[in-house]
Amino acid sequence: MDSIAARSTSGLPRRPRPVSTLTYPFEPPAADGSVVEIAPGILWARMPMPMTLDHINVYLLRDRTGWVIVDTGLNTPRAREVWETIAADKLDGLPIQAVLCTHFHYDHAGLAHWLTERFDVPLYMTYGEYYAMRVTYTPLPDPLPPTHLAHFHRSGLSDEMRDAIIQGLRRDPFTPPAAMSFCRLAQGQMLTIGQRKWRVVIGSGHSPEHACLYCEEEKLLIAGDQLLPRISSNVQVTAVEPEANPLADWLASLDHLDQLDAQTLVLPSHQGVFHGLRTRVQELREHHAQQLGQLGKFVAEHPDATAFDAMREMFPQVRAPIDHLLALGETIAHLAWLREAGEIVRDLNDNGVYVHRMSGVRASAGKGAPRGIRQSRTTGDTP
Ligand SMILES: [Zn+2]
Repeated sequence: MDSIAARSTSGLPRRPRPVSTLTYPFEPPAADGSVVEIAPGILWARMPMPMTLDHINVYLLRDRTGWVIVDTGLNTPRAREVWETIAADKLDGLPIQAVLCTHFHYDHAGLAHWLTERFDVPLYMTYGEYYAMRVTYTPLPDPLPPTHLAHFHRSGLSDEMRDAIIQGLRRDPFTPPAAMSFCRLAQGQMLTIGQRKWRVVIGSGHSPEHACLYCEEEKLLIAGDQLLPRISSNVQVTAVEPEANPLADWLASLDHLDQLDAQTLVLPSHQGVFHGLRTRVQELREHHAQQLGQLGKFVAEHPDATAFDAMREMFPQVRAPIDHLLALGETIAHLAWLREAGEIVRDLNDNGVYVHRMSGVRASAGKGAPRGIRQSRTTGDTP
């Protein structure tokens, strides 16, 4: 595994969508150490990010003798300064006592190493996210492993564009050191912080084992990147796991969140704190259904389309190399979903690139399937 997945930011530029009916009961804090009290003992702060998505929300939960930080911000000097301001001025003289990261992406866990050392406190993450962090917060292998080269080649990406993307990743200035130990969070676990009980709700698809925190009694959800109000989280297939179907995981996670109380106040990692959980879940389902429909139509009209061709159709506005990587990964995720649903099939063409066609349409040429085992999500038996 490598650091390609660590760079997956929360979302890509999208076409405009209809205005939704979410409501935002709080003005957001400035990303300068200011805080907004969401409820007694729950503070909302923002860490600045020097990119288009210019902030990440972090939350502070008051326990009896200190504060639990949820998510950290990027590994930048400015974000560290903002944390020093918060620790000195905003915590009623109480210490930071723990750091909890919803997932391993470096806007969420990039300062986990620094914060846990600076304040001498433990880190809480799920097993999957912790180890994804350990492996991805390292330099990309050089040269790229053959499996990665094969993945990019099969997707129809040119060698030149692949090299531009990889060069961009190698120059990424934000890759932090990883924290070297952790306490494990698991699905359904209850955390008592102050008077509140928070249930760990695991999601997947944007990252492998993303932790949300749900307070049933007060109907509060610290949602991480599992439910953002105005952008859809990046769901991508990476070179590390080229046969994954993360969109199926993502849609299942949305179904899971949809079980929570409709009146839940959602505390997301980007943009505003909002009401309208059910509405937002439905919007995201519709967004992916629309993308799947558009992609299916494209494949029907362009038999032998590569993933890269499909990406051009899905994300015509994408320009930067890193965004091409995210867009390609997201396109492959949607193609994988359509394949697993039996709507499309793919073949390796004579150049060793996957080309797609509707099920039932004969292949024009090709080398057949690569080596491996045919897998299915639906199993006949559970042990
Ligand atoms: Zn993320």
